[in-house]
Amino acid sequence: MPKTYINSDLQQCMITWRHWLHQHPELAFKEETTSDYIANALVDMGYEIERGWATTGIVATLKGQQEGRSIALRADIDALPLTEKNHIPHKSLHDGKMHACGHDGHTTMLLGAAAHLKENNNFAGTVHFIFQPAEEAFGGARVMVEEGLFDRFPCDAVFGMHNWPGLPAGEFAVHNKEVMSAVDTIYISVKGKGGHAAMPDQIIDPIVTSAQLITALQSVVSRNVSPLASAVVSITQVNGGHAANVIPDEIKLVGTLRYFDNAVGDKVKKRIKKVVKHTCKSMGAKGKVQFEAGYPATINTPKHAKQCAIAAVSLVGKNKVHRDMPPSMGAEDFSYMLNASQGAYIWIGNGEGEGGCMLHNSQYDFNDDILPLGASYWVKLVTDYL
Ligand SMILES: [Zn+2]
Ligand SMILES: [Zn+2]
Repeated sequence: MPKTYINSDLQQCMITWRHWLHQHPELAFKEETTSDYIANALVDMGYEIERGWATTGIVATLKGQQEGRSIALRADIDALPLTEKNHIPHKSLHDGKMHACGHDGHTTMLLGAAAHLKENNNFAGTVHFIFQPAEEAFGGARVMVEEGLFDRFPCDAVFGMHNWPGLPAGEFAVHNKEVMSAVDTIYISVKGKGGHAAMPDQIIDPIVTSAQLITALQSVVSRNVSPLASAVVSITQVNGGHAANVIPDEIKLVGTLRYFDNAVGDKVKKRIKKVVKHTCKSMGAKGKVQFEAGYPATINTPKHAKQCAIAAVSLVGKNKVHRDMPPSMGAEDFSYMLNASQGAYIWIGNGEGEGGCMLHNSQYDFNDDILPLGASYWVKLVTDYL
């Protein structure tokens, strides 16, 4: 059994919070009732809070019994535009909205830690509990940082945690450096000259050009990125054409680019530009490419990752804290907080059974059994650090 700091009353309370949040999912920057609910819970615990960060974000601060360092703990609070397919008593009440990434659980674990620590503040320093909106879209973390989060609440380090389906309940993964990749969106326009499909000699075909281009783009990573580094180029949308007998003027492609190292990302972007330009030119078409920057890579500071691992090991033992799991090519806006400060972001196992299906799936559910463990991890990290 993992060690826990959460008594059975608080554990029950956490399940109530989690189920309420799960039933009332709200999307990025619209987490109004969610924010009210979190604020009420914090005020009931006796916290003074600051609201309105990045619209619906909240920061609660707790001082220890002595002066000392400061740290920040962050939970994300938003849901996804997805209709829940689970048949559970706490199923989402809103079609088209669902906590399919477990942010209801993250919020609850941080509330649980805040409740316990309020009654047990025998540490030296200050903890800031950050409840952040809009992780799934628009980068609520970036907005909070730009609004001056760490000027208003200076801290030595900031910590985050995400549940991870597939990793057994009762286990953790702590990456030394890279955890989640950077993401950019690729927009490509292939312009030809449309016309009658039966007279291909009189046109410039953007469809055949796009087909060549999509294939050529698949060599960008395999022929330009070191086999020891990582990047992904995926074309995810092909838009164009409207009739069986008409070749269109233009095809638009959309794709995603993922990487950990900015130098690798820059190199891949340069190569994509060249491949688009010259592949299109060779077919008589005109190619244009634009990149939209998404979240940067989430990279832990090794010394903070080590502290997270020590806290996790003290709860579940060494063989249940994985230090060598491969990072994910998914992205996470906690990277903006890490880039503005320093710290670490870890994974807590959500298990493989009930609720074990992958994140962003309409049958996903956060595993209530891990609530006390997640809250205990926060408690241990705070009391070790401060
Ligand atoms: Zn997500
Ligand atoms: Zn998430």
